[in-house]
Amino acid sequence: MADLRGQIDILVSVARVDSGLNECRKEIARLPDEIARIDAQIEKLTGTEKAAADTIEDLAKERRTLEQNVEDQQTQIRKYKTQLMEVKTNREYTAMLHEIEHLEKEIDSKEERLLILMDEAEEKGGENKELFSMTSKEKSNLSAHKNQLEARLAELNEQRGKIEAERPKLLTEFDPHLKKRYDRIFAKFGDMAVTNMVHEICQGCFRRVPPQRSVEVRQNDQIISCEGCGRILVHYDA
Ligand SMILES: [Zn+2]
Repeated sequence: MADLRGQIDILVSVARVDSGLNECRKEIARLPDEIARIDAQIEKLTGTEKAAADTIEDLAKERRTLEQNVEDQQTQIRKYKTQLMEVKTNREYTAMLHEIEHLEKEIDSKEERLLILMDEAEEKGGENKELFSMTSKEKSNLSAHKNQLEARLAELNEQRGKIEAERPKLLTEFDPHLKKRYDRIFAKFGDMAVTNMVHEICQGCFRRVPPQRSVEVRQNDQIISCEGCGRILVHYDA
């Protein structure tokens, strides 16, 4: 079993490992949200694209309906014109002429609407082309960023696995009493039981360590707990 000095060395090593582990875990916890935000942005862009495509489809649908109506009415006119030859009375003749005239007027107004629709479709088509070029570029940037984050997440998980596997080995040389104390503090916080003192500040609770204590902590030759959080304070260059 190592002497107290050796025990403090172990604590410093554990503190380093725990600090790395903590960083890993924090980033692992944060990344899925960031990835989800990117997914939401991609989904929103896809929604925008769909709405734009739907507008074109609506225009095309209206156009097809109108064209079909015009065709039906033209057929009807041709039918009436054939029947005109066969009517017996002036009244019937005039009524049929009126009917034809009415249909022709309707066809005229539909054809006007068709011209407007074609203009709109052309204009909208141009706008959509620009929109899609912008959205597809944005989506591909977002996907690339997402891939990076996913790769980073996989890397971090691997790193965490390695650290977690290595960590118990560090503890085998640990003084049982110190280990007990260490385990108790660890269980209380669920993360670091040993913290580094940086610029006289405990990195566990960010409380300032009193001057005399901080001098002692720097010497790394006795077990000193932080008065703020109770974690064991050590000092090393991060
Ligand atoms: Zn503290």
